[in-house]
Amino acid sequence: MMKNAYANRHLEAKTKAGQLIEVAANIGSPNDLAHVLENGADGVGLFRTEFLFMDRKEAPTEDEQYEAYKQVAQGLSGKRVVIRTLDAGADKKVAYLQFDEEENPFLGVRGLRYTLKQPTLFQTQLKAILRAADHGNIALMFPMVTSVADVEAALAAVDEAKGALKAEGKSFGEVELGAMIEVPAAALITDLLAEKLDFVSVGTNDLIQYTTASDRMNPEVTKWYDPSHPGLWRLLEQVAKGAHANGAWVGMCGELAGTLEFVPRLIELGYDELSMSPKRIGLVKTTIRAL
Ligand code: PEP
Ligand code: MG
Repeated sequence: MMKNAYANRHLEAKTKAGQLIEVAANIGSPNDLAHVLENGADGVGLFRTEFLFMDRKEAPTEDEQYEAYKQVAQGLSGKRVVIRTLDAGADKKVAYLQFDEEENPFLGVRGLRYTLKQPTLFQTQLKAILRAADHGNIALMFPMVTSVADVEAALAAVDEAKGALKAEGKSFGEVELGAMIEVPAAALITDLLAEKLDFVSVGTNDLIQYTTASDRMNPEVTKWYDPSHPGLWRLLEQVAKGAHANGAWVGMCGELAGTLEFVPRLIELGYDELSMSPKRIGLVKTTIRAL
């Protein structure tokens, strides 16, 4: 079956029953774009923007970020790119950003929690993304969302960025708005989050870690870090149902999305989009087309 995986990479990922899945790529930089297109991605389901912030002395300016996001949006010629706002903290350290000493950084101020505490940093990025949306199909996604209040705060920040751009006379485009589902509490209230959003995308790397209480970085607990744990799958089902019942699409951008043994189950649960390392795309499309 896998013989034609590479040849299939540019075909639609449609099941025999006609269910069409968007098979997208995870990227960390505009430099990954050629690889994404070569591997037949239907879009970018996760642009990890923290890589733009690493290996330098200070945060990239609004214009620098705008150029990077615009390059990706234009390069995809109308296909969607889901840009995740800065997901710093815990496993993703950025040398020049100030973090308080924490006993449990994975349970601390990371992802959206950090950017909400750093309004200048957050506004700069949001403005750059909104401006880039004038040049392509951009969706904006927030990492480590835990509550409805988080979503409300993030959406208020987006409104503030739009207001600032208007005042500065800079043009910008409309974006779809979404949250990552990485925290079990968020998974359980996906319906409430989805009421306010266009989409959600499950970050299984973190969701598995938080659901099974097993550090994703600790090889001693891999036995418990179990992607087939029924507790996780109950959450994954609830996420898909909660999103769809409230008119939002549901994606997945953690490692599990590109793991062939789980793909049929995700399709059965109704996942609309799966995003993965570009080299997995041909295999996943081939698997879906055989269902
Ligand atoms: C995830 O948690 O599954 C995810 C996609 O985000 P990251 O791996 O960057 O934390
Ligand atoms: Mg994550």
